[in-house]
Formats: sequence, structure tokens, C-alpha cells
Amino acid sequence: MSTLALDDLARAAALLREATDVTLLAHIRPDADALGSALALAQVLAHRGATVRVSFAEPATVPESLRGLDPGLWVPATELPDSEPLLIALDSASPARLGALGERVDSTKRAGGRVLVIDHHASNTFYGTDHVVDDTAEATAVLVLRLLDELGADLDEPVARCLYAGLVTDTSGFRRATPQTHRVAGRLLAAGVDPDRVVREVAEERPFGWLPMLARVLSAARLDTTAARGLGLAHAVVTEDDAAGVRLEEIESVIDVVRSVREAEVAAVFKQSGPAQWTVSLRAKSRIDVSSAARALGGGGHRLAAGCTLDGTVEQALRQVRTALAEAPLL
Ligand code: AMP
Ligand code: MN
Ligand code: MN
Repeated sequence: MSTLALDDLARAAALLREATDVTLLAHIRPDADALGSALALAQVLAHRGATVRVSFAEPATVPESLRGLDPGLWVPATELPDSEPLLIALDSASPARLGALGERVDSTKRAGGRVLVIDHHASNTFYGTDHVVDDTAEATAVLVLRLLDELGADLDEPVARCLYAGLVTDTSGFRRATPQTHRVAGRLLAAGVDPDRVVREVAEERPFGWLPMLARVLSAARLDTTAARGLGLAHAVVTEDDAAGVRLEEIESVIDVVRSVREAEVAAVFKQSGPAQWTVSLRAKSRIDVSSAARALGGGGHRLAAGCTLDGTVEQALRQVRTALAEAPLL
């Protein structure tokens, strides 16, 4: 476990105070925490006069549900400058999570630039020159807020909205929350955030095509009560055919339905990402460490929310997940 040393925070704030040209990167297939954190920090740096841009390697556009967070700072990865004096990676435990943009970490360092990593994953590999990494933080957005406080920055509504989007989604709607989480949320609301609107836009409203997709996928879901050390596994498969015609957001929503199953401690969704490739989402309720299973399969994540990518048929991928879960430590 790594908590944040105060001088790491002060050093990162000093770096940001001096910054004039900054590229901020979210992880591939960005969620509200990765992109919201990047856009919040980028806005504050832009107010301070820096030239900033926010990007991620894939997909090629901003997910529709997150577009309302961007005041126009996102640029496609293909339009990034060759190098930048300061690269900031957010919510990304390793350069691999930056996809094709992961190489910029090394090229920036080789060119004498700085790489600031802001993240809350226990699996963070400390790949930057500077780190604000704290795996006790409920979201990267919380770490960005701590940095903004250190900078003495004003919290206006567009910045607070980006942070709220990250906080509300990474805590599953404040289900994983401490009194401090709610104090942070209180500050964001005081800055003018409309919580109903944010949640509706970022996490709730879906096109009608979501319903037939869910119906197909859920009708083939299975419950395996002997898996995950007898704690139970509910799993579903989203093939490329199922995914045709719905957004990434709808595909990512399936795990949140499957995880509701009472008889299963663990939920898994296998999302087809190639003819013989599956991106796997794993969720546990409280009793087993799924990040350990994901790591054993080449992925990573948090104890209760993790993922990995597996090659082969879906049956082979399921077998691998079952085997890894049989070895995963109980909490
Ligand atoms: P997801 O199921 O995609 O929402 O991912 C759940 C958690 O696992 C997130 O915190 C991700 O950062 C992490 N994660 C997912 N896939 C990977 C991977 N291939 N490598 C490392 N971490 C991952
Ligand atoms: Mn994330
Ligand atoms: Mn996060």
C-alpha cells in the first residue's frame, strides 16, 4: 500500500506552477475518472496561462457520455506534438494503460522532460519522474483536488463537475465512501455541480439499443456457484455482434448488471476485442481479491474491480479466469 508523501504533493505542485506546455493523458478507453481528472487539471493549468492538451490513445473520439466534461481541450492522439516538456498520466497504473501513447513516457524522459503520474491503483509501477500515487484514494479525481488545493487554485463549476464525475463513478455512486469522500463531494457541490445532471449524462442515459443488447447478453449469462473458491461467479459474454450498434458505454455497463447477482461474489464480463481476443472485467463484492487474479492473467486493477485481456476462444478465456480466481487471496 502506498499513501501519499506530502513532499511528493509539494514537488508536483511546484512542477505545475512552472509548467507552460503540458500534455495530459488518460488511459485507453477512458472512464470518467481518467478523463475527468485530466480535464479538471488541464482547465486549471490553462487558466494559469499554460498551453494544455488532453488526449488518450483509443478510441479515436471522446466517448459520448464524457463529452459534456470537455470545454474543448481534447485533441486526437494523432495531433499531439512530438514531445512535450511535461507529460501528465492520470488514472493509469503503467505505461501499457496509455496504449500506443505509452512510448511517450520514455521519449519525454529521454528528451529531459518530466512525467508526472497521478493515480490511485495499488499496481502502479511508478514509471514517471514525479508521482502523486495513493492507493487509499477512492479516485484519481481526489488526488487532483489535493493538487489543486496545494496550488491554491479556485474550484469553479466546470472543474468541479469533471472531478465529481470521476468521484461518483469510481465510488459506484458513493457506495465505497468515507466521511472524507462526502466532504470532498460537498465541496464539489458547493462549487455549483448539479449531481443529478452529471450522473444522468455520464452514467445513466442510454440509447434504446442498450435494451435489446442487454436482453441478448443477459439471456446467456451463467452462474457458477463452485467458482471463485466456492464464493460463486456470474459471467456474461459480449461478442462483437452483440456490441455492433451500441456505444462503448453500453458494453461497459453490462458488468454493473451482472455484479448484482446475489449468489455470486464475483462477476465477470468477457468483451470480444478481436476475432480471438477478450477484454475481461472482473468485480468482487468484498471477499476476494480480483486484482490478484487479473494480475496473474497479465492485467491489473483494484482488489474489487480489475481487468485483463485474454487470447483464444471465450471458453478458454473463461477457464483461465476460473483458474486464476481459484488461487485469488480471500480478503
Ligand atoms: P474495467 O473492468 O475495464 O472497468 O477495469 C476495472 C479496473 O481494472 C480498472 O481500475 C482498470 O484500471 C483495471 N484494468 C482493467 N484492465 C486492465 C489491464 N489490462 N491492465 C491493468 N489494469 C486493468
Ligand atoms: Mn479508470
Ligand atoms: Mn480511477
